[in-house]
Amino acid sequence: MRQPLVVGNWKMHGNAGGIRSLMAELIEAEGAFSGVEVGVCPPFVFLPMVTELRASSSIRVGAQNVSQHDNGAFTGEVSAAMLAELGAAYVLVGHSERRGFFAESSETVAEKFLAAQAHGLTPVLCLGESLQQRERGETEQTVLAQLDTVLAAAGVEAFANSVLAYEPVWAIGTGKTASPEQAQQVHRILREHIAVRDSAVADALRILYGGSVKDTNARALFSQPDIDGGLVGGASLEAGQFAAICASMEN
Ligand code: PEP
Repeated sequence: MRQPLVVGNWKMHGNAGGIRSLMAELIEAEGAFSGVEVGVCPPFVFLPMVTELRASSSIRVGAQNVSQHDNGAFTGEVSAAMLAELGAAYVLVGHSERRGFFAESSETVAEKFLAAQAHGLTPVLCLGESLQQRERGETEQTVLAQLDTVLAAAGVEAFANSVLAYEPVWAIGTGKTASPEQAQQVHRILREHIAVRDSAVADALRILYGGSVKDTNARALFSQPDIDGGLVGGASLEAGQFAAICASMEN
């Protein structure tokens, strides 16, 4: 039985006052999603504040990025050890905005995945195809190539301590969502790809869907057999909306 998981990705949004209110409202709504593991990923600078604000709640905290290096002369970067010290539980790796805007290759993503795990963080490995790749019929080969690079570097056992997020790039921040059937098809392919290597790891692996999840479409997506929750961008910035998405994971 996989515990449902919903993670909010705040991206580069927010300020101290807004985040304080958002966290207070979310904590107040927590009773509505008590069976669901919920995490939020603020910008780095707000991690200590959010960790303090969530202290008496079960909401967990993650980061949106991590360096693949342990330490050194890497101006502007943040290491996995630093995130662990701040109390982060997860870190997103391979988000399409990092792959696209910051030219992160799948090899770099694999290094970040390993760095996160080495410091006890759970990597949330994001995979997804562009609109052109989908239209060319290359969805499966795209997501499996992204997954295979990490599998080759980390081995299938490493997926016992990780989360996958299928995020079609054409659905992120666009208001277009994959249909529940489209999403389920890719989630099943991902799980089967892991199952061929280790069926117990595949059975326990949580695979989130991300891409314009809202309170109006969450239930239909989350009711698919291989969708174990969501990675939510825009809608996670609004407490009522995000709480409703989390609550729709409750049966
Ligand atoms: C995301 O940033 O991972 C995401 C899915 O964004 P949105 O929900 O806004 O599409």
